[in-house]
Amino acid sequence: KAPASLLAPAALFGASRPNSTGFDISDEQTLARINAARDVAMPDVVPLTVSQPSGSVQDVVNPATGEKISTVMMADADTAARAIDDARPWDAPAAERAAVLRRAADLYEENFGPIFGILAKEAGKTLADAVAELREAVDFLRYYAAEGETNPGSARGIIGAISPWNFPLAIFTGQIAAALMAGNAVIAKPAEATPIIAALGVRLLHQAGVPVPALQLLPGRGSVVGSALTADPRVKGVVFTGSTATAQTIAKNMAEALTPGTPLIAETGGLNAMIVDSTALPEQAVRDIVNGAFRSAGQRCSALRCLYVQEDIAPHVIEMIKGAMDELVVGDPWDLATDVGPVIDTGAQGDIAGYIATNGNRVIHKLPVPAQGTFVPPTMLRVTGIADLEREVFGPVLHVATFKGNQLDRVVADINARGFGLTFGLHTRIDSRVQEVSDAIHVGNIYVNRNQIGAVVGSQPFGGEGLSGTGPKAGGPRYVPRFFAPQAPATAG
Ligand code: GLU
Repeated sequence: KAPASLLAPAALFGASRPNSTGFDISDEQTLARINAARDVAMPDVVPLTVSQPSGSVQDVVNPATGEKISTVMMADADTAARAIDDARPWDAPAAERAAVLRRAADLYEENFGPIFGILAKEAGKTLADAVAELREAVDFLRYYAAEGETNPGSARGIIGAISPWNFPLAIFTGQIAAALMAGNAVIAKPAEATPIIAALGVRLLHQAGVPVPALQLLPGRGSVVGSALTADPRVKGVVFTGSTATAQTIAKNMAEALTPGTPLIAETGGLNAMIVDSTALPEQAVRDIVNGAFRSAGQRCSALRCLYVQEDIAPHVIEMIKGAMDELVVGDPWDLATDVGPVIDTGAQGDIAGYIATNGNRVIHKLPVPAQGTFVPPTMLRVTGIADLEREVFGPVLHVATFKGNQLDRVVADINARGFGLTFGLHTRIDSRVQEVSDAIHVGNIYVNRNQIGAVVGSQPFGGEGLSGTGPKAGGPRYVPRFFAPQAPATAG
């Protein structure tokens, strides 16, 4: 009999709805389809659902090469208003909506070739990250289908969904799936850098049977389309993943223009820490540190930003991190050997490179990177503690501090004092410490003796507190209900 831990995700989903099993790249046919996707045709113009959109045309660029791969119409305020006019909640029975989302999940899996191709070309995703992203998107579809089917409620109306470029398929799809499963109409604004993958996701959702007025794609700038969706009184809820500052702007717009109580579901930034004490297993900790800080080029809200290593083992652990960093392959996202791809655009590259340059006197280790494309060197910086980090730097930059055995409480207090609360990692073999630190630290997701990225839908509901978000956690049982209208139970008179 398999140990319970191996059964956990499937068991939580129920036998009929297991997590996506992923893609076996040792299978020749699968690999041939992935290789063919290297040449996936990009649309000349990203196809939109709104008829005759007006606005300004913007290039879509491959971050690894700087090459223009498509163009997209960034909607103006009139087009946004028209999308709101056209939106209609999806009034099919919950079981029918669930069946459609499950069909969409199957279509997503069948289309893995073009999906991987677009994720690599448009978002610079490595193949490993593209596989994980597609699995997560599929898991969201199946999980929310099951949740909304088992616990139905009534729709709020029109939901504005504003998603980030770092998970341009998974988070984009998760927001839409949850809002749709509650019977709402969704107007989805993808990130400015990643409209092509969003358009493919919407096409597959429509193909599966989601009515067009229930799901519209509305690419545009935050200042135009984002503002329209967060300040039109016909919008009855907003779901957003992105920066803390943008969430604050959205909350302000909503407070001024929308009815009181209109929900904002926001998943925002983090200044995520990990504590490695002297009882930790260094090989295991180093693997998790390197994954947490550098996988996806550090472009995850969950990524490790500030590592605390207990002084006694610090020199040894830091040497091992350097060695593990030297093994990282930075380069072409399509190469199977690549661990770290480019960052999303030249703006991000300039920002992160500028931060590393400003902190040049703190550099412990820094890798070489390809000259062409928006690559940023994976870098390790020495700090005295998390208070030294000016802000969240959304890239492959790891800060390392040391602490003495009697300073653990102080370290936890310093982490809490920053006000973020997304992920936290702890490597220790002292059981009582796991409990003590977990009780004291204020974060949404705590990971013990493993890395702190890649929350699994259904078994690790994801989302933070404080400056990191409003909850409810994505991929957890409270998420879909947040998209229902509040309803008092009927009382007998
Ligand atoms: N859910 C992702 C993870 O656990 C992070 C999501 C984000 O970066 O917004 O790594």
